[in-house]
Amino acid sequence: MKEEKSRKRKRFKHVKSQNKHKPSPSNNATQIHKEPEPENPSSSKKPKSSSFLDKMRARLSGGHFRMLNEKLYTCTGEEALNYFKEDPSLFDMYHSGYQEQMSHWPEQPVNIIINWLKDRSSLVVADFGCGDARLAKNVKNKVFSFDLVSKDPSVIACDMSNTPLDASSVDVAVFCLSLMGTNFPSYLQEAHRVLKPNGWLLIAEVKSRFDPNTGGADPNKFSKAVTDLGFASMLKDFSNKMFILLYFRKKEKQSSKRKEIEWPELKPCLYKRR
Ligand code: SAH
Repeated sequence: MKEEKSRKRKRFKHVKSQNKHKPSPSNNATQIHKEPEPENPSSSKKPKSSSFLDKMRARLSGGHFRMLNEKLYTCTGEEALNYFKEDPSLFDMYHSGYQEQMSHWPEQPVNIIINWLKDRSSLVVADFGCGDARLAKNVKNKVFSFDLVSKDPSVIACDMSNTPLDASSVDVAVFCLSLMGTNFPSYLQEAHRVLKPNGWLLIAEVKSRFDPNTGGADPNKFSKAVTDLGFASMLKDFSNKMFILLYFRKKEKQSSKRKEIEWPELKPCLYKRR
């Protein structure tokens, strides 16, 4: 019990110091959406009103969300897995902040993928970084859902660079806003392993991560790297304001020469306060 308490204390110390030394927003990271500023207490007649406290609470949890979000974009999948293993409640904190941010998006990329699967219900799907398994819950397909923490009995907790699926066992691999770790190429490598020949790879990512004008990756370079991994590019959809969608299919025959793949860096997507 004592040990548990001291571990928790340490964690909060860590959270504090991380916030203090938070990299400046200008360091090559995408910034989207902001949270409301709390009212200035001095301008209120009742400074300790519940609405003021609610706003302070929202601000605090917004800060925790941003810290966790940045952590996920700047560490490996294995580090992220260990981080959440130590305190799974941080995962809930991350996801409530994530849902808050997503509620401002006019369209959710996961819904586009759900629609795409509607006419293809016989395909077996692997959802890499499934979050609350919304995809699995809204399609008829057989779906294997993976995330760092399992918040639903259907979700398998693992680092998605290393899933328990057999090689060539699924028809569709989905990454919906989940290419977060610094080792993201190893997630795509794992998708390639588990996909059947001609299987689909669907990637939805935050648009600004792929905007070279603001320090993002060149989508063509990213696409070229994915094709070098053994995929053919089928469709690039840039029509949405907030995210891009890339559709690939696993090549039937893999090239015999193994070449070094040049992956562009994918900058973190950081969320600002407003
Ligand atoms: N795909 C869902 C959730 C996106 S949030 C949706 O569209 O709603 C991104 C998710 O990817 C988070 O839940 C995060 O925990 C997960 N994730 C990031 N890196 C991961 C890894 N290495 N292994 C498993 N899940 C990972």
